[in-house]
Parts: sequence; structure tokens; C-alpha cells
Amino acid sequence: MSECLFCKIINGDIPSTKVYEDEHVYAFMDIMPLTKGHTLLIPKTHCQDLFAMPEDVAANLYKAAPKVANAIKLAFNPAGMNTINNNGAAAGQTVFHYHLHLIPRYDDTDGLDVGWHTKKLEMDEMAAIADAIKSHI
Ligand code: AMP
Ligand code: ZN
Repeated sequence: MSECLFCKIINGDIPSTKVYEDEHVYAFMDIMPLTKGHTLLIPKTHCQDLFAMPEDVAANLYKAAPKVANAIKLAFNPAGMNTINNNGAAAGQTVFHYHLHLIPRYDDTDGLDVGWHTKKLEMDEMAAIADAIKSHI
């Protein structure tokens, strides 16, 4: 898409620090990294977000994900890695070309604080929620 920042990066119209590329995907350093090695993995086919992503595009993207993740792991030996994808402005998406954040984690001072405030559900509530989802698959 001509106005898309990440399509321009794929096309080489905007510079990026590439770490991997194949026929289907492009991986490059996040310009504002949360941690050392923070990398973005994107499909070469423009898709705004996960909802708009064809299954073959998703398959090719996740086929490359372990390759890039393991390269980051070998390079910096992080203690772990968060893989995060924000879909929609409400979820924190700021660039509307799907991207998977690969964020290596080092220790609890590495600058990423993912809040995870869970709730307890009754089994029947959970089943009703699952039924609502299942009815659309
Ligand atoms: P999100 O908020 O999930 O949409 O993430 C967008 C990410 O793109 C942010 O982490 C930005 O730092 C990153 N970003 C924006 N512009 C560039 C760029 N020109 N090169 C590399 N990363 C970028
Ligand atoms: Zn795009």
C-alpha cells in the first residue's frame, strides 16, 4: 500500500536495519526498542492487522518467527522473549501494517512492564464465552 510506512520499508523507500528477509516476510530492528534486540517481523503482503490477515500470510509469517527468534536468542542470550502483536489503536497499534514484536527479556529492570491482571470465571461463564466464539468459527 503506497502510504503505508512498513510497505515503504519493505520496498526500500524508507531505510531500515534489516535482520532477515525471504519471499514472504521482512524482519528489522524496531527504531524505538523496548529491549536490546527488539525486532519487528512483518508480512510483505500489506495487511492492517490480524483480523485482515489471510491464513497463508499468517502461516508464512509464523514459519519465519522461530528462525528470527532463535537468532536473537543466540545473539544476546536473553532469559526469555515476549512476542506481542497489537491489533487496533485500542490495543496500542500505531502502525497499521501487521507486525509481530519479538522482544527479548533480560531481567525485571529491562524496561518492559506487561500488566497481567487476571479474573476468576465460573465454568458456566467460561463455557458461554467459548460458545460465542465457536459459533463464528
Ligand atoms: P505498534 O505500537 O505495535 O503499532 O508498534 C509500532 C512499532 O513500530 C513501534 O515499536 C515503533 O517504535 C516502530 N517503528 C515505527 N516507525 C519505525 C521505523 N521507521 N523503523 C523501525 N521501527 C519503527
Ligand atoms: Zn503496509
